[in-house]
Amino acid sequence: MFDLLVATLGRLSVAAEMRLPTRYFELQLLELAGFRPQLFECLGCGQAIQPTVNYFQRARGGVLCPACGADAAGASPISLPALKVLRYMQTRDYDLIAPLQLRETVHREVEEILYHYITFVLEKSLKSVRFLHLLREQLALSAGMAGAAQTAEQT
Ligand SMILES: [Zn+2]
Repeated sequence: MFDLLVATLGRLSVAAEMRLPTRYFELQLLELAGFRPQLFECLGCGQAIQPTVNYFQRARGGVLCPACGADAAGASPISLPALKVLRYMQTRDYDLIAPLQLRETVHREVEEILYHYITFVLEKSLKSVRFLHLLREQLALSAGMAGAAQTAEQT
C-alpha cells in the first residue's frame, strides 16, 4: 500500500488531470485490501457479463447481469462504457491508463461507483473523498460565476 501511495503521488504530480490516477489508486487499493470488485462474472448466476447495461451491487462487491440485478436490493445500473473503463483499469498497467480520454459522464459514473463501493467497504464516509466532492462543487460554482460574469460583460 505504501508503494502504491508513493507511485500515486508521483503520478498526481505530473498528471494533466487527477481523476484517472485517483480512480486507478482506488481500484488498486481495493484489491490490496481484499475487496477487488468482480467485474467479469455475474455474482448471482456466475455467467460471463455481457456487453449491455448491467448492475453493480456494492454489498456483494461487483456486477450482476440484467436478469439477476434488475430486482436486487441496492443494485444500481452500470453503463457499458463505465464497466469497460473499470475492467481496463483493473487489468492494465498505469502506463496504459494515463492516456485514456473519457467522456465527462463516464468519469462521473466511474467515480460514483467507486465512491459508493469504498464508502460501503469502510462503513463510513471518507473525509478525503467528501473533501474532494466539496472542492469540486466549489470549483464548479466559481466557474459558473466566472461564466456568468463574462456573459454580463459581453452584453
Ligand atoms: Zn446473473
